[in-house]
Amino acid sequence: MPVDVIAIEGISYSYGGIEVLSDVSFSMQRGDYIGLVGPNGSGKSTLIRLILGLVSPARGSIRIFGLPNTGFRDRGRIGYVPQKINFFNPHFPSTVAEVVGLGLVNDSRRKTAGGSTGQAVEHALDLVGISHLRKTLIGDLSGGQQQRVFIARALVSNPELLILDEPTTALDPETRDNFFNLLHQLNHANRVSIILVTHDIGSIGAFASKLLYLDKKVVFYGSFDEFCLSAHMTSVFGPSSQHIICHKHG
Ligand code: ADP
Repeated sequence: MPVDVIAIEGISYSYGGIEVLSDVSFSMQRGDYIGLVGPNGSGKSTLIRLILGLVSPARGSIRIFGLPNTGFRDRGRIGYVPQKINFFNPHFPSTVAEVVGLGLVNDSRRKTAGGSTGQAVEHALDLVGISHLRKTLIGDLSGGQQQRVFIARALVSNPELLILDEPTTALDPETRDNFFNLLHQLNHANRVSIILVTHDIGSIGAFASKLLYLDKKVVFYGSFDEFCLSAHMTSVFGPSSQHIICHKHG
């Protein structure tokens, strides 16, 4: 039986004694494309930080690729695009190619495979359409261009799991469409597993294969067809919102 990409069982997490995730369980299989949705403060970013191994759960267990999640040991297998990129010092004298190359720093697989860093960076820049900016300083780019640099940085290690936290907020509509096409291609052709955190619950059904609706607990996890047919979800969202979310009806 194939190993789950993510297996989370009964995890809870608190900040300063206030529980923000409570008894969360779900599993993700290779090729799943999960839309992670929930109100502000529902614990989405905290769940991502737990999956990335940045924090540990108070209770429960997390296994990533079948292994206990003890930090960034297997970072090359996970590509992460953070929500906020404004932590970056705009005067930092790094080129676009150098920032994208940082995505390979902890890649344990590449060290053994012996691939060329330059080629991997070029390929990632090409995927997000910014090859021409490779020598530009990161501080000289627009917000949308910087976001593409961070997407390229996440893709450069050829990850098996891609996690994106509200990645399209700074993108113009055309770049946004290209970006969703790129995710579709990675998911379908390369079977990259994807978790996309989004506020856009009305659109995610057009892209993702599964919905994880979080509100401190798992309110719903399953396919959009299951969401559409769930009487419980009708009672939570009302029939009209339920079918806007599931995207199965014109
Ligand atoms: P979401 O990503 O769904 O908006 P978060 O995971 O960021 O939710 O936050 C969940 C809850 O935890 C919120 O109530 C938030 O205020 C709180 N929280 C998040 N980060 C911290 C932190 N570093 N310290 C204290 N409370 C936090």
